[in-house]
Amino acid sequence: MTVPTIPLNSGHDIPQLGYGVFLVKPEETERLVGEALEIGYRHIDTAARYYNEEGVGRAIAASGIPRDELFITTKLANDDQGYQTALDAARASLDKLQLDYVDLYLVHWPAPARGMYVESWRACEHLLAEGLARSIGVSNFMPEHLQRLFDEGSVVPAVNQLELHPLHQQPQAVSYSRDHGIQIEAWGPIGQGKYDLAGLEPVADAASRLGATPAQVVLAWHLARERIVFPKSTRRQRMEENFAALDVRLTESELAAIDALESGRRLGNDPMVFSD
Ligand code: NAD
Repeated sequence: MTVPTIPLNSGHDIPQLGYGVFLVKPEETERLVGEALEIGYRHIDTAARYYNEEGVGRAIAASGIPRDELFITTKLANDDQGYQTALDAARASLDKLQLDYVDLYLVHWPAPARGMYVESWRACEHLLAEGLARSIGVSNFMPEHLQRLFDEGSVVPAVNQLELHPLHQQPQAVSYSRDHGIQIEAWGPIGQGKYDLAGLEPVADAASRLGATPAQVVLAWHLARERIVFPKSTRRQRMEENFAALDVRLTESELAAIDALESGRRLGNDPMVFSD
């Protein structure tokens, strides 16, 4: 199965489907990322705060896959925000990942109470200029946070990684980002297992028409809506099932019915306040 790519404003392409490792235990990460690479995933999404970058690095090293066939993202932790602290943190992440560069480096949260996301962004711009990150972006940035980067920074983020699933689609943050050429990555794409996808009628209907699983239908919806996704599972069968969502095609009316499920139900932290 070929994974489609999406062009970023940095000039690089990102594979639209990847494997995320939030809450993957450090001691299981090397094995699970190794399995993901065997299945065909080439895009891995980690973060300093997942405490599993070493395992990701070991799996990459053991895989023998050429570096230019992989797309590796990591993120700056909130308590490393600042200019020099961010540069130091990025270098520490690269060491743990055993890499010379990451494909994408993200500011994990705006963390507004810390008041340092603009300085952190300038550090990201420096990492980009030095070649330590091929693309730079943000996560959980609302329009007012992006606006400050546009006003005070010099590089437009390549992506905004947002909580995004059928019940929480963040239409304003998405359209504001897209209007500025920023691609959307959906975190928690299948609702983090916190609600029953099969209980959503349009998802269940499409799943039964296609002989697909509810998770595959929701992932196919993201892909059709040109979002980047990296669902997480620690079970190989589900990792394969999620990868096979690439072959699931929904009709425009099925897509629209899932769009209409938007209800503002956030599952994670509120980006307007979360600063831990
Ligand atoms: P997700 O929506 O990918 O859900 C993962 C959960 O869904 C699994 O733990 C499992 O319970 C269930 N699941 C997985 N595959 C399934 C299947 N085929 N059928 C049924 N259930 C299935 O949630 P996530 O892991 O939080 O998000 C994906 C990735 O996004 C993370 O691993 C991480 O890389 C990233 N993320 C980023 C942020 C951020 O603030 N930037 C926050 C959370 C996650």
